[in-house]
Amino acid sequence: MKDKKSVVLVLDSSIFINNIEILQLNYPLFTINELGQELISERAKLLFDVALINGRLNLIEPSLKSQKYIEKISRKTGDFYNLSKIDRKILALAWYIKNNLNFDPIVLTEDYSMQNILSKINIKYTSFVELGIKSLIHWEFYCPECRTIIKSPNKDFKCPNCGTKIKKRPKTIRRIKK
Ligand SMILES: [Zn+2]
Repeated sequence: MKDKKSVVLVLDSSIFINNIEILQLNYPLFTINELGQELISERAKLLFDVALINGRLNLIEPSLKSQKYIEKISRKTGDFYNLSKIDRKILALAWYIKNNLNFDPIVLTEDYSMQNILSKINIKYTSFVELGIKSLIHWEFYCPECRTIIKSPNKDFKCPNCGTKIKKRPKTIRRIKK
């Protein structure tokens, strides 16, 4: 019987931007070096640095082969332009971990395009709530192109105004009191 691989979490910027307490996550955490540069708010940067200093965050550079593969897939699905270079590199990291390290990666992301690619390449993903993080998130759908806020998205997840694939972001997050 094959040994069950241990689960690791791959992080995008959302966990830092939304001030989620990273020490709540009881798994090894992986991301890419460039993520630190993407974080704009002081608070988010601080969370990133603290996780790094505490040895909770493993920074790994995915192989060029993995990066090329994700680029190819995202062009095929049409998600390429909805994803930043950093988003694609995080996806490449998950792919790299799955195929080269002895781990079972789960990507923690709130981004619809990233989730779309992940289901195409059979890598698991989750959001804060599903992980049991004790915060309540209200979602908002928006168009990354024309900035329209969409109340109830259609099944195809296209902007009713300009046809661009819409994205999802946490609108408000509230800690759930015990
Ligand atoms: Zn639009």
